[in-house]
Amino acid sequence: MSYYDQDFKEIAHCGANTTIHISCDEEGRKSAAFGIVHRSPGPMTAIGIYILLPQGIPVCDFRMGGIGQPFDPPPPKGTVPAILGSDSMGYWGHQCPQCNGYFRNRNHAAVYPQTCPYCGLRTEASHFLTPAQRMFLAHLAATLETELEAPDENGTERQVEIDMATLVKQSAKEPKPSFYYASQTQQTRYSCEHCGEFNDIRGLYGYCAACGWRNNVQMLAGRLSEIRAEVNSERIRPEAAVGQSVSTFDAACRDFANQMTRRIPMKPTRQKELSRLVFHDTESETFKRMKQYFDLAPLKGIQEKDVKFIRMMMERRHVYEHNSGVIDQRYIERSGDADAIEGNLLREGRDNVHRLIGLLTRIVANVDKDFHEIFTPTKWPIEHYGDLKKRRAKR
Ligand SMILES: [Zn+2]
Ligand SMILES: [Zn+2]
Repeated sequence: MSYYDQDFKEIAHCGANTTIHISCDEEGRKSAAFGIVHRSPGPMTAIGIYILLPQGIPVCDFRMGGIGQPFDPPPPKGTVPAILGSDSMGYWGHQCPQCNGYFRNRNHAAVYPQTCPYCGLRTEASHFLTPAQRMFLAHLAATLETELEAPDENGTERQVEIDMATLVKQSAKEPKPSFYYASQTQQTRYSCEHCGEFNDIRGLYGYCAACGWRNNVQMLAGRLSEIRAEVNSERIRPEAAVGQSVSTFDAACRDFANQMTRRIPMKPTRQKELSRLVFHDTESETFKRMKQYFDLAPLKGIQEKDVKFIRMMMERRHVYEHNSGVIDQRYIERSGDADAIEGNLLREGRDNVHRLIGLLTRIVANVDKDFHEIFTPTKWPIEHYGDLKKRRAKR
């Protein structure tokens, strides 16, 4: 396993030095501007944040245009435009100000808000700066103050660099100053299928930090296609595939339900009731409650005969997982399987697995669609990605 594939490993700063260009004009008036210089060949991205002096408190992100273009938006009063470098993969670590959850992605967007993968908080990217990045901004502000007070001859210019390059090259044992910031790998790294953004999050499910789309459908689709391939190549038996498909599906749906329980205000009794819902039984209260409470229709558009099939397969999962595949009275009563004989072993076919997976995928797609009518995604990155794909297709 490569270093990058491991959980919770530090990723060094990219080693780009933030610069402060000091000029002193003929009348002795001093001014300063931040910049960035990257001398190593590795990946690097830079972002701009307006900071309030003298403490270096971050105010908001800004977009750095091309040469001669003004920063967008213009600086709020009392702030200066500071520049920061990414980690050595070209990505950014973020920490949510609401739930303290840590994550990485490729952006510090100045044009649209960022979404916390864990609690769904949506606010400006600058609010997600990590404590270490804030220390760095404070250090920039302090250095700026010192340099502006230092004596300079009239009509001169000079450049000061915050030397991150040397700090990056230091051995891990050598202590680093408090303003050094790095990032940390999490557990699930993926590119969002809706906006193309890279995300690195703890756990499996989360909102895309850019567009806010929850990744359950994407994660489930990945797992289900693995199961299909494993069944086709006979690496797992169809009986086991039924169990694995249903439990993966159940987990993805329960995660949606958990998010609604956490994010929609409700009485504790309802919260408790929702925490008990399971999606591996279409006859349970779950599907009724989803409709009643949240106007979610998981089975929308699915034909009655398919619903019956799903019910049978979910009962089969129960037999495979809890009764070693031997048909019991419960299965006969609940499955609707007319051929079942108590005491016989249930035999599963590959076709059933594929049909079941197809239907489970449709149910989760229904939940996903309804869920995102409640928690709406951010359009900008999705539209931008759509335009990008169109342009690529034309080429
Ligand atoms: Zn959060
Ligand atoms: Zn996205």
